[in-house]
Amino acid sequence: MKKVIMILIDAIMPDALENSIKAGKAKALKFLMENGYYDSKLVTAFPTMTASVDCTLMTGVYPDQHKVPGLIWYHPEEKRIVDYVNGSKTTLSLGIKNTANDVLVELNEKHLNKETKTIYEELAEQGKTAGAINFIIHRGFQKYELKPPFLFNLITRFKLNKRSISGPELLSIGAFVKPSLPGRKLVWNWNQSLFNKYGINDRYAIEVTKYIIEAGRQPDFLMIYLPNHDHYLHKHINHPLESIKKVDQNLEKILDTFGDWNKAIEQNTFIILGDHGQTEIGKEQNHNIDLDYLLRDYQIPPIGQRVKEEHEAIFANNERMVYIYPLKKDIQKRLVNTLLAEENIDFIAWKENKTVKVANANGAELTFSKGKESYYIDPYHQKWDVEGDLTILDITLEKNQLHFGQFPDALSRLYGALYSQNIPVIVANAKPHFEFISKTFPTHLGGGSHGSLNYTDSIVPLLVAGAEKNPPTPMRVVDLKNYVLQLLNSTSTSIG
Ligand SMILES: [Zn+2]
Repeated sequence: MKKVIMILIDAIMPDALENSIKAGKAKALKFLMENGYYDSKLVTAFPTMTASVDCTLMTGVYPDQHKVPGLIWYHPEEKRIVDYVNGSKTTLSLGIKNTANDVLVELNEKHLNKETKTIYEELAEQGKTAGAINFIIHRGFQKYELKPPFLFNLITRFKLNKRSISGPELLSIGAFVKPSLPGRKLVWNWNQSLFNKYGINDRYAIEVTKYIIEAGRQPDFLMIYLPNHDHYLHKHINHPLESIKKVDQNLEKILDTFGDWNKAIEQNTFIILGDHGQTEIGKEQNHNIDLDYLLRDYQIPPIGQRVKEEHEAIFANNERMVYIYPLKKDIQKRLVNTLLAEENIDFIAWKENKTVKVANANGAELTFSKGKESYYIDPYHQKWDVEGDLTILDITLEKNQLHFGQFPDALSRLYGALYSQNIPVIVANAKPHFEFISKTFPTHLGGGSHGSLNYTDSIVPLLVAGAEKNPPTPMRVVDLKNYVLQLLNSTSTSIG
């Protein structure tokens, strides 16, 4: 059995990957492409934000089952916004302590549904080993203690110090959890400093990977997260190649660790993928959909404050999509009308008696629901009842076959987001080149953004080299867990 190394490059897009190879800027990716299998149309999870995608990748189910709605969402029991870190201003308003606690502890230990097994848990049950380097989803059967750097402890008043978190057989999270292997030391350097996001960066992840492989401790499945490209692309959406060149140099270092690149793919299956794309946002102010202004007539709690009796709604801004939660019984209809009056929203969707309603500003409406006996079937063998205007989600019909256009896997992904929580919620999707903004949230005018159900945000590249079996098509991020388990000679036993 070959070992599997999965590398997630945040926001790498198919065109950029292909062009960087053509331009001679990506030797490692070129080698893997020439010796492997390539899919330029892998469909990712929705919202197209790293946190929700990572949960789907590691559990093999959409948010209606893994229960993590997005990067940002409203927690009804705790009456507060959960944020797995999006922008320093938001983190400051919500409190660094809370945000760090959400992403480092609560996400894996509480928010991620215990009924859906992670790939690490399934592999462990089958006697195989796994590892995660800087990957935010790491729930496994081993226990680790967080050991944050001193300055971080001071800022967060030691709230996270020595907190117990779970992980697979090998876990490395920046400067917070460091693997220690007998006879070898991972020495401290600037890559782990506050200025380098405490080790949550590409260079440090590669250092740890090399350290583990050279120590002879490579697990059967190793998940590596490289975040830098996303940070770069948000600012320089039209010039991705310079950043991919740097990513590729890091991939070269991993391949070099095996002595020779051919040996690397003889001994391992490499799976390289992106988590979401990015869409170019217009330069002018009017490409922002200002949520504070749009919802000015509603009682909404200021960011960082808990929901109180008088509040009518709250929203969770995921860049090009937003969750809007009606907090009072009679408010949903009013909210729907307010949102439908905003011309830069592509469509909105909400739940109604186990169905999903979709509507847009032009008056088009669509209702759909899941059904085992339903007549219509999508390319992923999911059956649906549909009624109304299919063009609202760019769906075409051929007899009973549903085909997706601008919104890949639209029905399952919208359903997954809306049914991730059992409270009323409305999803709003921005038109291409538009982004939702609100106080403290990052804005990307003239740059790139993501989060939506649209094609550009939703399609990522998949590169597999060294595999004994190619992945099936059409492929989605949600299907990758099963594929990896098959490669490692295991079969999935989790629900879904
Ligand atoms: Zn991003």
